[in-house]
Amino acid sequence: MTDVIETQLLINNKLVPASDNGTFELFSPHTGNLVAKVAEATLFDVNAAVDAAQAAFPAWSALSPLQRGVPLKKLAELHISEKDELARLDAISMGKPISTHGTDVSYAVTQYNYFAEAAYPQGHTSLNTPGFLNMSLRQPFGVVAVIIPWNAPLIFFSKKVAPALAAGNCVVVKSSEKAPLTSWKVSQWIEKCGFPPGVINVLSGHGQTSGQALAEHMKVRALSFTGSTRTGRAIAIAAAKSNLKKVVFELGGKSPSLIFDDADIEQAAKETELSINSNSGQACFASSRIYVQESIKDKFIEAFARIAKARKLGDPTCLGINHGPQADKTQYETVQKYIALGKEEAGSTIDTGAGATNNEVSPHHIHPVIFTDVPEDSRLTKEEIFGPVVIVNTFATEAEAIAKANDTEFGLYASLYTKDLERAIRVAKKLESGMLGVNCTSPTTCLDLPFGGWKGSGTGRESLLESMEHYLEVKSVYVRVSGIGG
Ligand code: NAD
Repeated sequence: MTDVIETQLLINNKLVPASDNGTFELFSPHTGNLVAKVAEATLFDVNAAVDAAQAAFPAWSALSPLQRGVPLKKLAELHISEKDELARLDAISMGKPISTHGTDVSYAVTQYNYFAEAAYPQGHTSLNTPGFLNMSLRQPFGVVAVIIPWNAPLIFFSKKVAPALAAGNCVVVKSSEKAPLTSWKVSQWIEKCGFPPGVINVLSGHGQTSGQALAEHMKVRALSFTGSTRTGRAIAIAAAKSNLKKVVFELGGKSPSLIFDDADIEQAAKETELSINSNSGQACFASSRIYVQESIKDKFIEAFARIAKARKLGDPTCLGINHGPQADKTQYETVQKYIALGKEEAGSTIDTGAGATNNEVSPHHIHPVIFTDVPEDSRLTKEEIFGPVVIVNTFATEAEAIAKANDTEFGLYASLYTKDLERAIRVAKKLESGMLGVNCTSPTTCLDLPFGGWKGSGTGRESLLESMEHYLEVKSVYVRVSGIGG
């Protein structure tokens, strides 16, 4: 058994315990062992972190983009040299298999390296008002809060912190209570990378205390959040009731995948299976509702189930395992409640773990489950489950497929499989979704196009090219100049 980790908060480049020495316990979802005592940030700590960020802001924002890029590049280098330890920390806290963790690290490295060099925000100039040279300036907000979920902590930390810092802001990050260890690890590198005190502050703790305090804080001028739609709503209310801070939301999903009868069924099954079951179904953009054309239903389900049965469940810290446990007991129990509901409501159930014997499977592992013919108004069809549970329903016509796909409050990632290009474009246009895969599905995305959702899936759009916009205010400056008429 490894030693129990004791984490701290990073405030003003000092690693400190919570002001009241409060901690909470973190258990491995695989072994059930205590892995860490995590500092629980108090209101006092939130205020101290925000004050440190505010004090650091004038000097940090006065640097050139290239000067701000120097420590960001060092942060990228440390992610690469410490990638194995980062993978281990996420595996023991929330169960992500180390064999799949490389994507998280390379994503983070790209964010830090890109924003280290590409942060040259610009406004506009205008000679369109007679007698004036007018211009708009893009300027940082000051203190930006970043609140992240647990399913891919390094991705969310980096995709928000890198552009916010590059734009000249100072940040206070709050990690998720379910996966605080990689954020804590990164916080230990901040001073070593050369960030001045207060530029990055990292808090751990629960949403109701430190998260809520950041959302309500009068000195926080912008807040970037990835997490559930429910929490997004609470943050929007807190922002509205305090200082109307700018909020950026990347929220939940219930993504539809439409499989037409001319599709490559094996490819569609392989990719949708990966989409819903990778990270044990704990991905915002997972293809959780699959609609297949009636004539190919049996063939598709056979292929999907065969692929899902080949998942390697086991200890997430071992290579060769691609399916870890659910992140914790609560997540496990939530998913099990939906499975129980599905067994009552679905036309049929395929439990890919039925009859399986595997000593490596822990109490929080869930084998992929396929429900077919689920009522469209069931909670199973409407709510985000966040587990390896897929619904496979059918459609007869293109219009029916589109109507069923769009009958949701979410709109993060839709996909469709067909060899008919005209149909692909026609359907793609009608689907209500921020991202859309044609003959592919999530996790396929790209770094330089907007990532984000329609409807209840969010308000933000993040990408290498767009993210910095979220962290910049705009100022229009009107300069009267005699002698320059229209
Ligand atoms: P969550 O909403 O429960 O928690 C996210 C973060 O918010 C955590 O750090 C939590 O402590 C904090 N929080 C909780 N209550 C708060 C409050 N009242 N005020 C401020 N902060 C609060 O979500 P989760 O369970 O950590 O993550 C899973 C959810 O995130 C899923 O819904 C998933 O779809 C979504 N997600 C979305 C994206 C995306 O890019 N759209 C990506 C990953 C995850």
